[in-house]
Amino acid sequence: MTVRQFESPRVTSYSRTHTNPKRILVTGGAGFLGSHLCDRLIGEGHEVLCLDNLQTGHRSNFAHLVNNPRFEFIEHDVTVPHGMDVDAIYNLACPASPPDYQAEPIQTTKTCVLGALNVLEVAKARGIKVFQASTSEVYGDPTAHPQLEGYWGNVNPVGPRACYDEGKRCAESLFFDYHRQYGTRIKVARIFNTYGPRMRPDDGRVVSNFIVQALKGEDLTIYGDGLQTRSFCYVDDLIEGFVRLMASPDTVTGPINLGNPGEFTISDFAYMVVEMTGSRSRIVHLPASIDDPHRRQPNIERARETLDWEPKVPLAEGLAKTIDYFDRCLSEGGPVAAG
Ligand code: NAD
Ligand code: UDP
Repeated sequence: MTVRQFESPRVTSYSRTHTNPKRILVTGGAGFLGSHLCDRLIGEGHEVLCLDNLQTGHRSNFAHLVNNPRFEFIEHDVTVPHGMDVDAIYNLACPASPPDYQAEPIQTTKTCVLGALNVLEVAKARGIKVFQASTSEVYGDPTAHPQLEGYWGNVNPVGPRACYDEGKRCAESLFFDYHRQYGTRIKVARIFNTYGPRMRPDDGRVVSNFIVQALKGEDLTIYGDGLQTRSFCYVDDLIEGFVRLMASPDTVTGPINLGNPGEFTISDFAYMVVEMTGSRSRIVHLPASIDDPHRRQPNIERARETLDWEPKVPLAEGLAKTIDYFDRCLSEGGPVAAG
């Protein structure tokens, strides 16, 4: 395609990382992270094929791109083979919120495993780079802290989180087996909790739940004692990590942690949300989720050294933008287009 427009307003803050325009497949491109990635790639002048079955994604996330001649939406399930004619693949398709992935656990495992196989087959046949959105959940309820890439994890293989954790672990195995057996050009990122505009207000994750509850004046629901920790990364920082990993030499396969090392208890996070929203909500405790990881914090030395990457957006700054987004969602009665 010869059209080179830069109409996306959200992608100007970082320098370009791909030198030549490419045709890039983004699976899960209608979701939270995938839609931000589509924006970033379109902004860099690439042609983007967004493949999604809309299980947890939403058309509003890419509504601002539909008239762009370099953007195409393909409604398709990644578990079904797709011989896409592309130059690179980012594989993000998979529900990420625990209530979402546990609602259809068998489909979740299929999406992780068959979805990985199908993108790997395309990458192998075409000799192109393929990026896998893996997760800190491969570490399970970690006995090592903070988590380094060399840690093998502590996952319950028969619990309700296993469909996602074991699915993502199997996907990583497939990526490395394709790399060893066929020399496939792989990029495996282990993503830690990421937040920002375009999360679904009802996706059940802690960031969306707490902000929506606070804005509505409802009780904030802490599962368990609230002493469990998470480390929250703002979406723009994460997407920068994605494109840097993809642009790195073939010798950089990962796995590589991408996340913000700032670690907060869920209890402190709840108070922060109440304070930032000026809400009069109460904070209440509900039973803990089964197999809920107690502590989670990325060690990002590998990303710092290999990609010269680290997050830049402090939690308070990212939360303010996210609160503003959810506020607009609530006043407009649903997801906000191009938010
Ligand atoms: P999301 O639920 O917003 O997006 C996932 C997208 O994948 C949705 O658009 C959904 O419709 C699509 N999808 C699901 N199953 C599919 C299938 N079988 N075929 C085609 N499309 C399918 O989640 P997200 O937060 O944007 O996460 C994106 C990726 O990043 C996921 O792979 C997730 O595991 C990974 N990840 C996210 C986080 C995070 O904090 N957001 C953390 C770790 C890993
Ligand atoms: N959590 C909570 N209240 C909520 C939603 C989540 O206390 O309304 C807790 C959850 O038990 C976990 C943490 O917040 O300890 C992060 O949950 P989330 O679902 O966002 O992501 P996870 O890291 O568990 O995949």
